Amino acid sequence: MSMLDNAIQSIQIGMEDFHEEDERRVLSAIRNLYAGILLLFKYKLQQLSPDGSDEALLKTKVLPAIDPASGEVVWVGKGKKTVEVHDIIDRLNTLGVRGVDWKLLNALQGIRNDIEHYFSPLPIERMKEAIANSLHLITQFCEPHLDERPVEILGQECWDLMLSVTTVFDAELASCQTNLRSVEWPFQEVLDAMDHMVCPECKSRLIKAVEPTAHRDAITFMCQSCQSESLYIDVAGHAVEISMASVNHWRARQGDEPATCICPECSYDTLLVHENECAACFFEFEYAHCEWCEEALSIEERLYSEGTCGYCQNRYDRMMAE
Ligand SMILES: [Zn+2]
Ligand SMILES: [Zn+2]
Ligand SMILES: [Zn+2]
Repeated sequence: MSMLDNAIQSIQIGMEDFHEEDERRVLSAIRNLYAGILLLFKYKLQQLSPDGSDEALLKTKVLPAIDPASGEVVWVGKGKKTVEVHDIIDRLNTLGVRGVDWKLLNALQGIRNDIEHYFSPLPIERMKEAIANSLHLITQFCEPHLDERPVEILGQECWDLMLSVTTVFDAELASCQTNLRSVEWPFQEVLDAMDHMVCPECKSRLIKAVEPTAHRDAITFMCQSCQSESLYIDVAGHAVEISMASVNHWRARQGDEPATCICPECSYDTLLVHENECAACFFEFEYAHCEWCEEALSIEERLYSEGTCGYCQNRYDRMMAE
């Protein structure tokens, strides 16, 4: 059986398991779905591997060898270990596969990993999210890059079920996002982190603010998936930390200081240096600027000084010593 047949079968089995709506089968459904999607991408890597390279693009380890016929250097796959998600993404990217939203694959991997460590009943909504992500990935990938129409390879029944689940999930997600967008967030950085807001209990993106008119730490959330209620600090802390990590990454590449630091109060990396306030718990340093020269204090100075910058403190110490 070809790798493509394996991929299709795995996705079909995943969807059959979902149909049963039985908790234990949901688990195997997500495993199969995820495995199937990965196989689709691996199939492309297999196809792109040069002849006689022992499927080099699929292998974690690739070594140079001399082709006995031509005497030229060729890259050959070694061992049994095959590429994992980040290699798959890297390789397909450099091979010119465009138009696939890899964030969806990362999110799918996240759901797959979560279910392995999840002990209480798995909310069915997480399964729906996995199906919706898979469908979007299949749509973006199959026809443009495999020259296959999804409905033709997966079969009408499997495809229709995926479509109907996705339609419902996407509508729920859109309604949650409309709700979250209507909240008056205390900082622009929290609004920018909206796509990373998830239920702290089940990690579902289907959360809504209970009172969209509430302010700051009075904002609470209700999960549409597992029905648990959560606090502003837990949702915003996690989301802002993730979104600021990429902001800080870009700043570092340009030689700039990070825009956030670890908050001494809540431990999230969400203390907005410019605002001198934590986006998660609203902790503020007593001093953000030097009392004497009014220069912005560094994080160290905010933590340990009595409101003076190192320069002024030095000058003062020297003066006192004279
Ligand atoms: Zn939840
Ligand atoms: Zn804090
Ligand atoms: Zn100063």
